[in-house]
Amino acid sequence: MAYSIAIDGPAGAGKSTIAKRIAKELSYIYVDTGAMYRAMALFFLREGIKPEEEEKINIECQKADITIEYQNGEQQVILNGENVNGLIRTEEVGNMASATSVNGNVRAKMVELQQQLAEKADVIMDGRDIGTKVLPKAQLKIYLTASARTRAERRYKELREKQFECDIETIEKDIIERDYRDMHRENSPLMQAEDAVLVDSSHMSVEEVAEHIIQLFREKIKC
Ligand code: C5P
Repeated sequence: MAYSIAIDGPAGAGKSTIAKRIAKELSYIYVDTGAMYRAMALFFLREGIKPEEEEKINIECQKADITIEYQNGEQQVILNGENVNGLIRTEEVGNMASATSVNGNVRAKMVELQQQLAEKADVIMDGRDIGTKVLPKAQLKIYLTASARTRAERRYKELREKQFECDIETIEKDIIERDYRDMHRENSPLMQAEDAVLVDSSHMSVEEVAEHIIQLFREKIKC
């Protein structure tokens, strides 16, 4: 039986940094599901589709073939044969991903792919609906959060390091809007699963959060 750890939470809570670290320590595969929604969003942007064009999204999403590969342990997202990893981290793509991930057809397609990945290997998967929908039987579920300001500051730093022009007030506003949309959508809204452990990383270092989660996991599986 493959083991799995589910990490859900709002944008910028540190899910991917922490999940990557834990994956390395446990030799698990890290699956970044947000990257899949971002690849789909990039496809819609390129096709000139607007978030409100629901019918078009229902049809066009079937034309986007999204798969995952690993290079030196790093997840690569492949969109219709093209590696789009370097193109999906912009705020534009993030906002489009948040707006189009409300679509039921888009979600069904992504969830199927994510469940297939978790059947084959031990995974640590992060996203918004992992504990509630994708991996309801995960051995450990974490709901990782932090204040909106802390999350905006982290995102700002990350974008500046990559030389992207950005402004902290706009990032914070986008984060609050994105949280609202993710938490209030009809399909699989972001919420803490009943059996998830809440971890607030506002005043914790990456190492502290990662260690805490590993300890919780070891207790769960008793090793
Ligand atoms: O985590 P990340 O910011 O890369 O995700 C981009 C967007 O994709 C999120 O704002 C969210 O709307 C959507 N998403 C989702 N379900 C997931 C992962 C991401 O709806 N499991």
